[in-house]
Amino acid sequence: MSSPSGPRWIVACISHETNSFSPVPTTLDRFGTGGGPLYGQAGIDTFRRARIPFGAFLDRAEARGVEVVTPIVARCSPSGPVDHAAFEAIAAPLVEAARAGADALFLDLHGAMITDRYDDGDGELLSRIRAAAPGMPICLALDLHANISPAMMAAADVAVGYQTFPHIDMFETGERAADIMLAKMDGRANPEIVWGSAPILPLGIRTNTSQEPLRTLVALAREAEKEPGILAVSVFSGFWLGDSPDTALSVVVMADGDRSHAEAVRDRILRAGWAGREGFDFRSDPLAQSIAEARTLAEGPGRGPVILVDHADNCNSGSTCDSMTVIGECLAQGLTGVAAAPLCDPEAAAILAAAGVGATVTVDLGWKLPTPSLAETGRPMRLTGTVRAVSDGQFVVEGPVYTGTRINLGPTVAFDIGPMTIVVSSRRTEPYDHGVFRTVGIDPAAQRFLIVKSKTQFRPTYEPIARAIVYCAGAGVASSDLSLFRFRHLRRPIYPLDRDAVWAGA
Ligand SMILES: [Zn+2]
Repeated sequence: MSSPSGPRWIVACISHETNSFSPVPTTLDRFGTGGGPLYGQAGIDTFRRARIPFGAFLDRAEARGVEVVTPIVARCSPSGPVDHAAFEAIAAPLVEAARAGADALFLDLHGAMITDRYDDGDGELLSRIRAAAPGMPICLALDLHANISPAMMAAADVAVGYQTFPHIDMFETGERAADIMLAKMDGRANPEIVWGSAPILPLGIRTNTSQEPLRTLVALAREAEKEPGILAVSVFSGFWLGDSPDTALSVVVMADGDRSHAEAVRDRILRAGWAGREGFDFRSDPLAQSIAEARTLAEGPGRGPVILVDHADNCNSGSTCDSMTVIGECLAQGLTGVAAAPLCDPEAAAILAAAGVGATVTVDLGWKLPTPSLAETGRPMRLTGTVRAVSDGQFVVEGPVYTGTRINLGPTVAFDIGPMTIVVSSRRTEPYDHGVFRTVGIDPAAQRFLIVKSKTQFRPTYEPIARAIVYCAGAGVASSDLSLFRFRHLRRPIYPLDRDAVWAGA
């Protein structure tokens, strides 16, 4: 973007949210849209227009006319601990680029990565970069579900997180982080990080920023940003299925000047979080009761589908996306006019695609990946139906969540079993865009019921067409039932695992 002798920035993206209980392997080839991480210009070309922090960093670089080095763009949907070889392969090009010399690093980082060797994968990565380039300023744009660690904050100069979940301000977060970094580099500000955490494990399903308790916390953060010397305030819910000592509710304040003022802001928000901690817990109704309620709602007033939220099998919390529990209960209770998308079963998708449109086929569907962390794993369901459509499963997101990103479901089939059409895919994605239905010719708005394996990100896209939304507690490794999981590395006590937990900070 400019002459090699001018300023040079490293702009990169590393994104993994690790579910310690997920059986979905996290190998190097999964970091990308098929075929592993992207390097150099390929990374820039693929994500140049994506509304993520990486795109915002590139915009700022272009505006300043600086040379950009992109050693790696490695984005992987949530899954089990990162394979050690994959972690080393991802870290190496970034560390090398830092060692080669640059004026700054702008890193789009999720912030909840655990590897099979490191509880704090992001902290390990950043510590290595810091050691390779001690004087190079490091700017982080982080996900709201980041598990903030001492090592991460020690290495970073600027750290700013998303203000929303569903995440609709990812690009703007990149802009906010970059602008604080530029103020530092230009000598217009002297930002420092003040941060802390409270012993709360917010369940993912309770991390919607337009609902309590996070609504109050992010409102307090926005208020505090109007105070003198406070550049940015970020609230992080953390990712509750990451079994690490850093997993907790945390607050990061970017301060310019009075450090004790920034500490007061941090403590004010963490104490409000502690006071509202019961809101971070979640109790599910029995599944049979939820499905019966959905049927009643479908016969009631309003128009559009009833959305059945199969939240325990949300692949964006690391689940397998092949649980059949909610699908099975809908069939058992005789619901009709149901569409489910996607159910990831590459084996069944291949059989159905090979049979072709119009063919009647019997297949064993779902529950193909063993889930040893759960006491009980389901069995595939043998189902007979007709192949209605086959597609390559590729589409670009048009809805408000991850707008402009490319989704690759792999070979995908609409499998019509009578009361229900199941979109059987070869790869996992959270159905936060109507594209998961449209890729096989299904109009989601025209269905009576939609099963979506999501927790919250479906909302911006599906609320406008929904008659009603019903949360359905199926089985899966993204369950909100903490009693299913054996945590070993969390700090203790922590609420709600320890209901009587006390916190000295309160
Ligand atoms: Zn997130």
